[in-house]
Order: sequence, then structure tokens, then C-alpha cells
Amino acid sequence: MSDQLVINTLDFVRSNRFLQGSIPLVNLERLYSYLANTSGELVYLISGLFDEHNRPMLKISVSGSVALNCQRCLGKMEYELDLETGLLLARSADELSRYDEDIFVDAIYAANELSVLTLVEDEVILGLPISPRHQDTGCCLSTETGIHATTAKEHPFTILASLKRTH
Ligand SMILES: [Zn+2]
Repeated sequence: MSDQLVINTLDFVRSNRFLQGSIPLVNLERLYSYLANTSGELVYLISGLFDEHNRPMLKISVSGSVALNCQRCLGKMEYELDLETGLLLARSADELSRYDEDIFVDAIYAANELSVLTLVEDEVILGLPISPRHQDTGCCLSTETGIHATTAKEHPFTILASLKRTH
């Protein structure tokens, strides 16, 4: 079963391995609250390599079609997921906090037993749009309604600024 897969991250990198597979959406329980339904599956590719500074890292790509809920009309909306991320593997707590301070890299602890399912699930949660919406033509609510909804969500300071401008 692909969802039971576990990798030893540093071994994986040292032996230059890669792993390819698919995970049914129904197995990704932490995604349920984002999804309109759980049909379909995601395809992933994980490869182990050293980056240009000779640091061990995992490259993860995930793709597939997911059904989200449009935040404007609450209707179903197909979203094509196509993610590619690099995660540095920190070998100590020090290294991890150093990587965390660097805004240009993402890092995780170099676990001996990293669940592929959890890894893919984490990446998908980070990669999903925060506020998915249909394109105007595909949304069952009018564009005008959409504009009102957007205005209402504006930051209070933005609204304040526009009030000031009109007085
Ligand atoms: Zn919509």
C-alpha cells in the first residue's frame, strides 16, 4: 500500500533514490475540509539529492485534479494541482532553526522514518489556494456580487484609507 510507505530520509538522499506513486484522495484525511469530494488521486514523485551547497534535500512534486469549493458561490470547482518543492533535511535542531531563519529555503527534520503520505499531505495543504474562486465566467454568482464580496474582505486599514480619501 502506497499510504504505508516510509522512507529513511538521509539514506534516501545518499543512495540517490526516487519514489513515484499515487495516493487516492480518500486516504488524505487532513485534506477533507478543503475538498468538495474525495474522488480521484494525486500522483507524486519524491527524489533524494544534494543541493549546490552539498546539503541533503528532498524534491517533491505532486499533481492531480482536486475538487474544491469556490469561496464566492460555494459551488464545486476543479483545481489542477501541480506542485514542486524542495525540502532541505536538517540533521540537528540547530541546523533546523538555522534553515528556518532563511526565507529562501524550506526544511524538515531528517527523520529515519518519514511517512510519504504525511509528506505529500503537508505539501498539498501548503500548496492549495487559500481562497479558491471560479473564473468569473464559471461562477454561478454574478461578477458584481463577487466584487462586493471582495470589498467586504478588505483589510480594515484599506477601508479606512478609502474613507479618508473621500472626506
Ligand atoms: Zn463560484
